[in-house]
Amino acid sequence: MQKRYIPIAIFFVVLLMLLAHFSGRALAVPASFTYADADKKIYLTFDDGPSDSVTTPVLDTLKKENVKATFFIVSDRAKGREDIIKRAQREGHTLGVHSASHDYTKIYSSEEALIKDIDACAAFIKKTAGVTPTVYRFPGGSFAHKQLRETVMLHGYRIVDWNAVCGDEEIKNASKDTLIETALDSAKGKKQVVMLFHDSAPHRTTAQALGEIIRAFKEQGYAFCAY
Ligand SMILES: [Zn+2]
Repeated sequence: MQKRYIPIAIFFVVLLMLLAHFSGRALAVPASFTYADADKKIYLTFDDGPSDSVTTPVLDTLKKENVKATFFIVSDRAKGREDIIKRAQREGHTLGVHSASHDYTKIYSSEEALIKDIDACAAFIKKTAGVTPTVYRFPGGSFAHKQLRETVMLHGYRIVDWNAVCGDEEIKNASKDTLIETALDSAKGKKQVVMLFHDSAPHRTTAQALGEIIRAFKEQGYAFCAY
């Protein structure tokens, strides 16, 4: 090699070494990372909580599996359980409005009654966790209350329904295996899954099935999202 090319050669060798070093860094992934197909997303959503018997083990499982979820709160049931709400917020989950009373006859008696119910729940979340909720789930789903959708949106909320269920409300006394099977069946073929769970007190089986449900969707390459 001619002498004048030596500095240029050194420059390229150093450049290649630097590139190798930094690309190696960029490729290093944390242990908790799950390789996911960006097209496939799942939102885990929990209605009707919090409860001591279900929300707490649900939060433990979400932490262990390192995934985030969305909790649609019933604020009348959250009184005395502020620590659970604070924990959910601290651990990176989203807190949404479900209802203050969850009393259908009351909240669906008029538009004003619905807004009053939403505001009471939102105020509780703000006071307890310090966050202003932006997502709302209609008790019973918005499917049955289409005429109220606009009112809620104009009030500043994004309405979140669901397109998959684990069956914890629909199937009476469903076993853990039934919940796992139902969750996977109802999400089949869907690239964006919004899965409905319930974390109110009677749903202990939901908490027991959750870990396996999460691992099954991880295996299928889903990315876990919260609102
Ligand atoms: Zn509900």
